[in-house]
Amino acid sequence: MTVLVLGGGVSGLSTAYYLTKQIPFSSISLWEASQRTGGWIKSQKNEKGIIFEQAARTLRPRSEAGANTLNLIEELQLSNDICPIYSNSAAAKNRLIFVKGKLHALPSSPISLFKKTSPFSKPLIASFLKEFSVPSKRIKDEPIYDFMKRRFGIEVADYLMSPLICGICAGNAKEISVYFLLGKLFEYEQTYGSITKGLIFNMLAKKTELPKSSLLSKMRQEKWSVYSFHSGLETLPKKIHKVIESKGVEMSLNTKCTKIEFNKKELIIHNQKNTVRKKHLFSTILSEQLAVLVRDEHPKLSTLLEKIQSVNVAIVNLHFRGTLIKDPGFGFLVPPQENLPILGVIYDSCCFEQKGDTVLTVMMGGHWFKKYFSNFTNDQQFYEIALNHVKRILNITESPLSYKVTILEKCIPQYTVGHRKTIEQIEDYVRKAELPLSLCGMSYNGVGVNDVILAAKNL
Ligand SMILES: Cc1cc2nc3c(=O)[nH]c(=O)nc-3n(C[C@H](O)[C@H](O)[C@H](O)COP(=O)(O)OP(=O)(O)OC[C@H]3O[C@@H](n4cnc5c(N)ncnc54)[C@H](O)[C@@H]3O)c2cc1C
Repeated sequence: MTVLVLGGGVSGLSTAYYLTKQIPFSSISLWEASQRTGGWIKSQKNEKGIIFEQAARTLRPRSEAGANTLNLIEELQLSNDICPIYSNSAAAKNRLIFVKGKLHALPSSPISLFKKTSPFSKPLIASFLKEFSVPSKRIKDEPIYDFMKRRFGIEVADYLMSPLICGICAGNAKEISVYFLLGKLFEYEQTYGSITKGLIFNMLAKKTELPKSSLLSKMRQEKWSVYSFHSGLETLPKKIHKVIESKGVEMSLNTKCTKIEFNKKELIIHNQKNTVRKKHLFSTILSEQLAVLVRDEHPKLSTLLEKIQSVNVAIVNLHFRGTLIKDPGFGFLVPPQENLPILGVIYDSCCFEQKGDTVLTVMMGGHWFKKYFSNFTNDQQFYEIALNHVKRILNITESPLSYKVTILEKCIPQYTVGHRKTIEQIEDYVRKAELPLSLCGMSYNGVGVNDVILAAKNL
């Protein structure tokens, strides 16, 4: 069997990794368009040895997908490189939103649900109790914002859900599919008639057995909230690259696929330099990028793949001398109704010690990239916007020692309402046309690192 994996992000690397385990005697090649693997996981050290994460930075250890990643990390012998954030630390407990000119801490414990905390007009427990009696609606999907407003009221939709969706996928909660991004909560309403009821039933129900690993036990014992690695998240894709290469995967960097032809049950795949024939293709690139490659022979499939569009995000990493954050935490998010050109700020140095200095990451754009930045022509403009907001909101007067601006083009797919139907139609097309093609990566069944690794394994 000769197979090609398209894309050298963590999806492509883990697809190749699981293939080497599953079909060890096959010939596996991986093509990556750029000069490095890792995709949107890129940890850069500045001249002072400070880590600037360019995109993804932390992983959640809980859930089935989280446990699967821990298993993989153990197999890769990376357990000792992990750097956890513990559940009782400020970085885990203190998550903030910026509303009406002020930072507000979001409730972080069961007890805090009983207290009235600004900007909410009543304790959150009141919204949960009221939710019991809100009539359920039998639907296939709806925007997350509408779902939360219908179930818990407008404050939860505005102050909890909207900023959360900015943090997860830089998206607009008024467009993103609840079925896809908050599937469990949606299922609770559809099954039990109430989310609160569903949460209670779920707490009482027997937990599904997660794959056993000593790292998983350690995580539970030590109560990790999220984690990364001592040298940044890129440790993970770097190690997978090394392992799959040692297992014989033929890695081709600077190799951009330009066209895919389906010849009976074989594939003819082109790059800038040559053409190869393969039995099967695992595509882990964005669906809209794949759409271009198959358009000539399969225009209908191409149109479906193009439906899943991604947004641009600008990242500004800032490094200041000394400890400047007065109220340590994970960082803050900005709800869209505040009409500010930033999505949020991550307090990197509160999460992971950075030589006693302050390191922050400002995220900008996403769904609103065009609205705020369509006339921006250089990095300096992004830097100034980011710095001005950080200085004003966090009362910082110092100037940074160093900074980095990165524009991530088409970096997060938007699972808008109807995403499920699009996925079904794509799968249906591939099956009926008997294409030797498998799809993986963040365009389809989850945008996080854990999601894409689990999807690769399941594939
Ligand atoms: C700003 C930001 C913050 C994030 N934060 C987190 C986080 O904290 N935690 C988390 O779990 N997830 C986070 N994510 C999501 C996470 O980065 C992704 O889930 C993950 O990196 C997706 O990996 P991938 O391999 O699917 O895609 P990519 O990383 O995009 O990799 C795809 C690769 O395919 C290559 N490619 C494209 N076209 C071709 C072609 N024609 N031929 C050959 N190669 C091609 C690209 O060069 C790229 O290297 C974040 C994402 C962003 C953008």
